[in-house]
Amino acid sequence: MLEIQGVTKKYGKNLACDNVSFTLEPGSLTVLLGPNGAGKSTIIKSIIGFLKYQGKITVNGIPNKTTQARKILGYIPEMPSLYPNLTVIEHMEFIARAYKMTNYKERIEMLLDRFELSDKKKKFGDELSKGMQQKLNLCIGLLPDPDIILMDEPLLGLDPHAIKELKNYIEEMRQAGKTMLISTHIIDSVDMIWDHTIIMQKGTVRANITRADIEGAGKTLEDIFFEVTEGIDKDAVSHSESTQEEASSEQAKGENK
Ligand code: ADP
Repeated sequence: MLEIQGVTKKYGKNLACDNVSFTLEPGSLTVLLGPNGAGKSTIIKSIIGFLKYQGKITVNGIPNKTTQARKILGYIPEMPSLYPNLTVIEHMEFIARAYKMTNYKERIEMLLDRFELSDKKKKFGDELSKGMQQKLNLCIGLLPDPDIILMDEPLLGLDPHAIKELKNYIEEMRQAGKTMLISTHIIDSVDMIWDHTIIMQKGTVRANITRADIEGAGKTLEDIFFEVTEGIDKDAVSHSESTQEEASSEQAKGENK
């Protein structure tokens, strides 16, 4: 179980996450929905241990930044960060060794095959198209097969085949009992079987909905999203834009590592 309790993260004066709390039950699929700048990436980076924040995050009762917790957590970032001088296969083997995996060759073949990168094995990171980089990013994140996996906007930049394959893969992971948190700002992309949807806006959790809540109310997720965020979306976007400068300057300082 992943427990996020009262997490607050500020970038300078900008409150990116304000007292955020939610729980991921074992084996559940949770969608984190919200407009740009809602704080989705910030909470995911806090869970994975990349940021300093106030509050408490535990994985099966263990603090998230411990080695023990990190072994259980997996992360697929929104932006791939690949090595320009490593080939596709070298990226995968590097990760397999970093995670001290044994018998990983078959799993690498399976992932590269499913995400149509088998014929790109010898291509270098900087020779890949954006979509291919995104697919390699997915394969790298999925390779260690963690019990809890956090995916930040995983469908962005993927072609329709890769989107279909990823959705199939997510369903297989769900059946295998994995716990997943998937962020998106595109409601239409949430057409997979989810257990909970958390709607964030302006750094706060506005709603935590179960599938039964929606079915009981005879509404769509889109209806609920607009009910919850109505009238404030535009502000959230400009709020995000106004802090871009601050974002770059803080990133330059390496504050978030
Ligand atoms: P989302 O993932 O929902 O689009 P983010 O978590 O990326 O939202 O951003 C939440 C808020 O925090 C936004 O206002 C954004 O501009 C700000 N922010 C994100 N990263 C940084 C950063 N590194 N430095 C300063 N502000 C940031």
